[in-house]
Amino acid sequence: MSDLFKDQVPLLRPWLGQEEIDAVSEVIASGWICQGPKVEEFENKVAEFIGAKYAAATNSCTQAIHITLEANGIGDGDEVICPSSTCMATANAIHHSGALPNFADIDDQSYNLDSTSVENRLTEKTKAIVLVHQIGQPADIDTFKEIANKHNLVLIQDAATAFGAKYKGELLGSGNATACYSFHPRKMITTGEGGMIVTDNEETIRIAKMLRSTGASSSDLERHHAKGTLVQTYDRVGYNYRMTDMQAAMGLVQLSKIQQIIKERAQQANLYNTALEEIDEISAPFVPDYAVHAYSSYLIRLNENCSLSQMEFLQEMADKGVSCRIGIQPLHYEPFYKKLFGELSFPITEKVAASTVFLPIFPGMTPEEQQKVINSIKEIIVKNHVNA
Ligand SMILES: *Cc1c(COP(=O)(O)O)cnc(C)c1O
Repeated sequence: MSDLFKDQVPLLRPWLGQEEIDAVSEVIASGWICQGPKVEEFENKVAEFIGAKYAAATNSCTQAIHITLEANGIGDGDEVICPSSTCMATANAIHHSGALPNFADIDDQSYNLDSTSVENRLTEKTKAIVLVHQIGQPADIDTFKEIANKHNLVLIQDAATAFGAKYKGELLGSGNATACYSFHPRKMITTGEGGMIVTDNEETIRIAKMLRSTGASSSDLERHHAKGTLVQTYDRVGYNYRMTDMQAAMGLVQLSKIQQIIKERAQQANLYNTALEEIDEISAPFVPDYAVHAYSSYLIRLNENCSLSQMEFLQEMADKGVSCRIGIQPLHYEPFYKKLFGELSFPITEKVAASTVFLPIFPGMTPEEQQKVINSIKEIIVKNHVNA
């Protein structure tokens, strides 16, 4: 392990080993390193794991969302609903399609989109909803399917952080609401950078596969198998959003560890949940009955009776050698959107942003490391009780 992680509990550490190194080395030695047989194998394995018909790998989740929107006919002049409480990447993907994001507020408990706010924000230009499953916790998909059906909208799932999470017993991406996953190191499994579109919709996957690769009617691999006798045509402008076979090889190894990853994260979350029961000033994440949380992140809430501000909490934890982060910051606060939309207000989003903190959670975190996080929280809360 590098010096980057010396003497501190980091927010996360990628969980990689010799198997990933070997798998990538084999690809390099094989003579085929760009999108090819390994990408195809990874796509098939992911579709099988999720229980969906199709999957298409991309270079990131941002671009997966972009071409899923485009494949569903979303573009110039359209509006797409998404939470203000999300990664900038969600909104960037909407812009890339030519549409504009139309922000909505979140629920105070689950931190996912609030259905009433979504209905209030709909306009004549609204053509789609990007339903974000925030930090590994599935949103109430059925409620948003109903809204989408009622108003003739496309529903797309931003499942960047939620690989392995379940909604009503199902992994995300089957049943015709296309899901987009991320394989950035901060997500459930990693390929360094990378993404995946998972869907039961044949037309979405057909167009997305074309768009990700220059708009060509056939792939390099198909032309290779045909030994040059297959010539591609171009019906539309495409992109280069391809994953490499080196990344896919790493992804295949990571996928083989997914049950262990899910289990470790759940165990760590349970340990935090139990420890936080004793601390009035802090709330553990709320998990609705319909959801199995993947815990790609663990987000605590500093309650109103907590004497520490969010920044004081972060500083005191940092002083003890524990690296935390502030919760998701609203996109409508960003200079870009202030200029574009003027002042917007989403009260729950703002309240949650000001009172939430990410704790370290990652497979490979040792019991000693997690105990250090828990002890540090207890110490700083007690100390500030005494000082108060
Ligand atoms: C990380 C993340 C993304 C972007 O994923 P990339 O693979 O980095 O493009 C999109 N949406 C959400 C909610 C994310 O957390």
